[in-house]
Amino acid sequence: MSQFTVPKTQKAAIVESTSAPLKVVDNFPVKQPEDLAPGECLVQLDVSGVCHTDLHASKGDWPIPAKLPLIGGHEGVGRIVAIGAHTQGSPVKLGDRVGIKWLAYSCLDCEPCRKGLEQSCLNGKYSGFTVDGTFSQYVVSWVTHVTPIPENLDSAEAASILCAGVTVYRAIKYSKAKIGDWIVLPGAGGGLGHLAVQYAVAMGLRVVAVDTGAEKKALVMKLGAEKWVDFKETKDLVKDIVDATDGYGAHAAVVTAANPAAYAQAVDYLRMGGVLMVVGLPARANLSADIFFTVIKSISILGSYVGNRQDAREALDIAARGKVKCYYELKPLSALADTYEALGEGKIVGRVVLNMKE
Ligand code: NAD
Ligand code: ZN
Repeated sequence: MSQFTVPKTQKAAIVESTSAPLKVVDNFPVKQPEDLAPGECLVQLDVSGVCHTDLHASKGDWPIPAKLPLIGGHEGVGRIVAIGAHTQGSPVKLGDRVGIKWLAYSCLDCEPCRKGLEQSCLNGKYSGFTVDGTFSQYVVSWVTHVTPIPENLDSAEAASILCAGVTVYRAIKYSKAKIGDWIVLPGAGGGLGHLAVQYAVAMGLRVVAVDTGAEKKALVMKLGAEKWVDFKETKDLVKDIVDATDGYGAHAAVVTAANPAAYAQAVDYLRMGGVLMVVGLPARANLSADIFFTVIKSISILGSYVGNRQDAREALDIAARGKVKCYYELKPLSALADTYEALGEGKIVGRVVLNMKE
């Protein structure tokens, strides 16, 4: 049922195949309120952030392929304009402003779900990957999995907290780094990285930012990083990081670069007992670390995958309290192809957020 007027067609950006150019159309069908299944809802989007994951998905970079044709996007914010008939006990109602995350749906009953690892649900659905995502003006989601957006957080500011923010917030939380510890953030000037700098600072950590270029340096230093290493200019990355961290190396590293090179020396610049959080997802890449030094330095290497519904609420709450602010440029949906190209070249500083109402 809906008190809102829902059009029959909408603008959407479609990936038809991993080799075809992205196609923006204005006549893609909108699922109508009467066609929603119980538990489903229809969200009219205000904005959608563009994550490097959307580029990986459109290119078929990973061992698991995306659905095709695909509407990408998983950092959407908008209003619920319809809820499927016979939906029981919905935690959200018509008109609520909500977020769409990478994890579109989880069964909440398999072992990973029961243990709070719902992002690894055995029956999970993923926005912009296994189900259509937020690069369209309307998106179908599930009432149990949309994320309420705090009143005082603007939609464009909230968008990238839903993937980039949640992901780095959880990775830092599980890195075991404590107040006063050094954390290295390779990829610091990108979408995930610039939010990681801020969550780390908010948690009392000392940040060594690793990325390249004057603009990214200026941004991360403004956001509270204490040290900067330009991965393209340094002659000895490990030495620069060890020197920057009192000569012992860092307590933790959260790698958010979409480049396997960013992982190569992490074990070398971590101190004894250091933790490497694996977050960036470069195409067809293997992680290799020296076994001897991993053992004698007691290094932990942990994968970290977005976050669960609780992580999302916590990450948004920190942003709503003004501790973390997404640095973004607002663009129309027609700028998506150029944004993908710039992401591939490492040219996006912070995030690009698309205005879906334009
Ligand atoms: P982005 O392109 O905005 O940022 C990546 C940054 O890495 C860029 O600023 C780039 O200059 C920098 N970089 C490249 N090579 C580097 C190197 N050798 N050392 C240091 N920095 C380097 O991308 P993003 O949207 O922030 O996403 C980053 C990665 O994280 C992607 O692979 C994405 O798929 C992945 N991701 C993972 C999860 C997860 O759950 N684990 C969630 C979201 C995104
Ligand atoms: Zn993402």
